[in-house]
Amino acid sequence: MLNIVLFGPPGAGKGTQSEKLIDRYKLVHLSTGDILRAEVASQTALGVEAKKLMDQGLLVPDSVVISMIEKKVDANVAGNGFIFDGFPRTAAQAEALDKMLDSKGTGINMMLSLEVDNEELIKRLLNRGKDSGRPDDQNEEVIRKRITEYNSKTAPLKEYYTSQNKYCGIPGIGSIDEIFLKLCTKIDS
Ligand code: AMP
Repeated sequence: MLNIVLFGPPGAGKGTQSEKLIDRYKLVHLSTGDILRAEVASQTALGVEAKKLMDQGLLVPDSVVISMIEKKVDANVAGNGFIFDGFPRTAAQAEALDKMLDSKGTGINMMLSLEVDNEELIKRLLNRGKDSGRPDDQNEEVIRKRITEYNSKTAPLKEYYTSQNKYCGIPGIGSIDEIFLKLCTKIDS
């Protein structure tokens, strides 16, 4: 299996690049943000609770996202592998993911980290908010909160994956195709 953590702050281009990568490498895309938004849209109990946090730019509890991912991994373990997009976002999530994959005789091959500076992220997210209809992309204060959450809880995972020799940083600036090419070069090497 080829299991990739596609990493980076909100607005770095993870969703866009995931779509291209799943097409090229025939992987299953697991985005906790997408799964949570589907729960919100269906107004499930989980979705109603998650929305309160998402609208403030805060992370939802680890236990919630870990069990969501576990179900999807179980359902797709016979495939070529996974792209994890927006997960893991905390040390507890990263450890749970390693355990989960290990129990299935597989593991993360690499963490590809798209690196983009804060001001560029805010510009991109406000622009995306005009089309996406995502409430958390339309308010600069919420966007800044998401970036703060990323810097305090998620960015330290770079060290977690560096210590496993799996961290690859990629500049997330340039055209979609240029960035895609850089990602493919890392995967193929
Ligand atoms: P995203 O689409 O990845 O930017 O996620 C949108 C929002 O969903 C985040 O701001 C969080 O509130 C929540 N979320 C998504 N993935 C996670 C995760 N792995 N851990 C905690 N919260 C998450």
